[in-house]
This record gives sequence, C-alpha cells and structure tokens, in this order.
Amino acid sequence: MTEIIDGNAVASEIRDGLTDAIETLADAGARPGLATVLMGDDPASQTYVNMKQRDCEEVGIESHHVDVDGDAPSEDLFDTIAGLNDDPEIHGYIVQAPVPDHVDYRDVIRRVDPTKDVDGFHPENVGRLVAGDARFRPCTPHGIQKLLESARVDTEGKDVTIVGRSDIVGKPLANLLIQKADDGNATVTVCHSRTEDLGEKTRNADVVVAAVGVPELVDGSMLTEGTVVIDVGVNRVDADTEKGYELVGDVEFESAEEKASAITPVPGGVGPMTRAMLLYNTVKAASMQEDVTVDLP
Ligand code: NDP
Repeated sequence: MTEIIDGNAVASEIRDGLTDAIETLADAGARPGLATVLMGDDPASQTYVNMKQRDCEEVGIESHHVDVDGDAPSEDLFDTIAGLNDDPEIHGYIVQAPVPDHVDYRDVIRRVDPTKDVDGFHPENVGRLVAGDARFRPCTPHGIQKLLESARVDTEGKDVTIVGRSDIVGKPLANLLIQKADDGNATVTVCHSRTEDLGEKTRNADVVVAAVGVPELVDGSMLTEGTVVIDVGVNRVDADTEKGYELVGDVEFESAEEKASAITPVPGGVGPMTRAMLLYNTVKAASMQEDVTVDLP
C-alpha cells in the first residue's frame, strides 16, 4: 500500500505545537507579530497574503498588513521595510513575491532585518543555513523535512533527487539535506532545465522532490518501485470544473502512486506545511528577539 502523506494533518500538529509557545510568549508580554507586505494587486498574491493572515489569527499570532501601490517607486516599499525593521511589535515579516518589474527583489530581500526575515531569504540567513547554523529554515524546504519525518523517512545515506534549483525550494532543500545532521546526511542530486536524462536521475533516487512548475512532469516511468515522492508543484490547468481549472502538481499522481512507497498529494501535501512553517519561524523570531525560551514543535 502506498502511504499518502497528509500535509494537512502534519501542519495541524505543528500549529497545535506552536500554540503553547505563543501563549508562553504572550504571558511574557510578547505576543508574536507577523506582517505581510503586498506591492500591487496580483490576485494570487492577495489570496496568499489573506491565507497567511488567517493562519496567524487561528494560532494567536498578531497579524499586520501593509499595501504598497504597485506603481509607486521602489523607495516607498523600502520605507515600509525600514518601518517594519524598527517596529518592536513586528517580530517577522514577508514581502510577498512577485514584486512589480520595476522593483529589484534582491534589493528588497537585502533590506529586510535578518532577524525578522521569516522567509529565510536574506543572504545572511542563506549563508548561515549553508554553514549548518540556520537561523530560519525557508518554509517550504523545512516543511518537506517535517513531512519526511512524519512518514518515518530517514534521509541518512539515502539518494535524494530534487528537480528544480530555485532559491526558495530546490537550493535550500539541497543544502539542508546534505547537512551533517539527523534530518540530513543524504546524497543529493539537484536537477534543472539543462539536466540531461532527468529520468535516469529520478530512477536512481530513494526520494524524489519535484519543485518545477511544470504540470505532471514526473511520472511513474521515471520512478523506481518504493520511491518516496514529494510534490511541491502547484499548477493551474484548464478543467471542466466550476472555476474552469484544477490544481495539479509537478508529478503525475496516478502513475507515480503505483510505484511510490509514499507520496504527497496536491493539494493537501506541501502547501499546508509551507504555511505552518511560516508561523513556526515567526514564533522562533519572537522567542529570539524577546529572549523568552519556548519549545518549538
Ligand atoms: P522556479 O520557477 O523558481 O524554479 C523552477 C525550477 O525548475 C528551475 O530550477 C528550472 O530550471 C526547473 N525546471 C523547469 N523546467 C524543467 C524541466 N523541464 N526539467 C527539469 N527542471 C526544470 O519555481 P519554484 O521553485 O518557485 O516553484 C516550483 C513549483 O513549486 C511551482 O509550481 C510553484 O507554484 C510551487 N511552489 C509550491 C509551494 C508550496 O508551498 N506548495 C511553495 C513554492 C513553490 P532552471 O533553473 O534551469 O530554469
């Protein structure tokens, strides 16, 4: 039987585990605060930001939101960032990507106070992660590690093939999984659009992580019997549904399920974990800034 790894259930456990820590911080007069910043009015980004605020409310994190006009100069966004860096009630914040074309996203990331960078994208935090001393693990890779742990997948000595080398998923996940650590110690292959014979790389793996953004790129023929499959992709494809589309992953679920020992569904796999780990990082940020010790799940 193939195990379907239930991201909603694991995320719910993480959120429950955070509630005690949040109350400990609140009792110490330091309720965690997360801000979201949205420049422009991209509907998908608005949805993501709304979900993050709702998640905060559910667990007792104070949520704040700042809208910046999409046509405003970069300096307006930079002023907002400077304000959040100085605001003691904001322990962490995210600037929702993508930002408008006239804004340099790298410049945005560099301006975020690294101790409030709950996305874990600031170069200082990236460097710390690579050096094995992570302050904030980026939410999606950290969520994937938690999913593997929940499915009792020990990565030590395993061959892991990651398809995708983005700064937010593929690269940080590869760096986490090669760490000399209980949730690392894997041998990692990172694939991308120039990789030759992708199927050979995925068939050689004990664990395949697909983070590509190409609907159903990885199918059962590219997997060996017993592989653990983590599907990060969220792709809208036209479908005869009320909304006119459906969400599919980067893995063709039906054929992959036949080969996999465990697999994440889309939706309901990695997505809820990304959201839960943002809450985790916010609580960690508050704990460090307020010097209040808490147990993290
Ligand atoms: P990016 O577009 O930043 O990166 C995609 C990567 O896939 C690139 O490294 C690219 O290679 C590689 N790639 C593209 N086509 C191929 C191909 N045919 N064969 C092999 N590699 C290929 O994507 P993200 O990492 O931001 O996101 C990936 C997917 O995950 C998306 O569907 C996104 O929506 C989803 N996502 C889901 C999250 C969640 O919480 N569930 C969180 C984050 C992302 P190259 O570098 O050469 O261009």
